[in-house]
Amino acid sequence: MINIAQPYFNEEEIVAVTNVLRSGIIAQGPRVSEFEKKFAEYCGAKYAIAVNSGTAALHTALYAAGIGKGDEIITTPFTFVATVNAILQLGAKPVFCDIEPVTFNIDPDKLERKITAKTKAILPVDIFGHPYAFEKIRKIANKNKLKIIEDACQAHGAVFKNKKAGALGDIGCFSFYATKNMTTGEGGILVTDNEKYAERARMFRHHGQSQKARYEYFDMGYNYRMTDISAAVGLAQLKKIENFNKNRIKNSAMLTKGLDKIKGIILPHVSPDCKHVFHQYTIRITKHCKMTRDEFSKYLSEKGIGNAVFYPKPLHLVPHIVRAAGKYSLPIVEQMVKEVLSLPVHPGVSDKDITYIIDTIKNI
Ligand SMILES: *Cc1c(COP(=O)(O)O)cnc(C)c1O
Repeated sequence: MINIAQPYFNEEEIVAVTNVLRSGIIAQGPRVSEFEKKFAEYCGAKYAIAVNSGTAALHTALYAAGIGKGDEIITTPFTFVATVNAILQLGAKPVFCDIEPVTFNIDPDKLERKITAKTKAILPVDIFGHPYAFEKIRKIANKNKLKIIEDACQAHGAVFKNKKAGALGDIGCFSFYATKNMTTGEGGILVTDNEKYAERARMFRHHGQSQKARYEYFDMGYNYRMTDISAAVGLAQLKKIENFNKNRIKNSAMLTKGLDKIKGIILPHVSPDCKHVFHQYTIRITKHCKMTRDEFSKYLSEKGIGNAVFYPKPLHLVPHIVRAAGKYSLPIVEQMVKEVLSLPVHPGVSDKDITYIIDTIKNI
């Protein structure tokens, strides 16, 4: 079986974790500080605040930017549920904007009409590892005095022109879940150039405790701290991320070359100013294909090729979200969820695997 995702470790992570265990400092400590410093440098951001999941990073980022009850946040319906749950956690209201079929990212040309007097921020997602339409959306945000909270949970190392994903917002959020481009098991981080946001984020992840006085509380907060065990894994993975991404990009180029011009299959697109890091290699099986998407998926599974539908349901149709956001009709995303299928592209997929995937699909 060629897995759709798998973590990639070697002796370096094992030794790093063992050293932390032997040191006796296992909760948030020196490894976390070092990881924050190095991750901020990697993104080209001034500050990084490590937390214990990507969801916690999003919740913390929205809080740090001052989002609260009744505020409206414009976001995409084509993302993992955590993006929207983080908005709901603060009592804010998600406002959905349809996506572009080409990149699957939020459509900047449909965004401005969603802005109301209550809108506080835009939350674009670099879905599958492709940066959002940064220039157009930044222009809209500036004109309307809105903040951008970037969900870069799938886009470690992605680039728009010369700016890294995560640094394309006022705050950028990452996940280090097991299937992401780099992992700490569970974990997350937020990056920003804004000192006030960084300070609020540090307090929020530690019960709202003041940075200046122990047991003085600035506001309510959470326990969102990362452990030194996770940070040690993160430090080792950070050294490898460029190489991991290089392999993902190589695998995606091979797939694109091999699967080109097959009737009914639309391959991933990379916008000219972007480095796409292929968290997922997502194709579209359209009605012109010989098989339906679900038949196609079943056929690949039977042939030992892992595959998955990310995502089968747009978030504006999920019941608890409908209750908070109201009813929407978004034709592009509703079409895309019927067509998308992700194929294995991670660094553990060999050239031989790629050839097998291409041949198997061509046999259809
Ligand atoms: C993985 C992911 C998250 C959530 O991250 P966790 O670490 O699982 O909490 C949020 N948004 C997107 C787009 C993701 O892919």
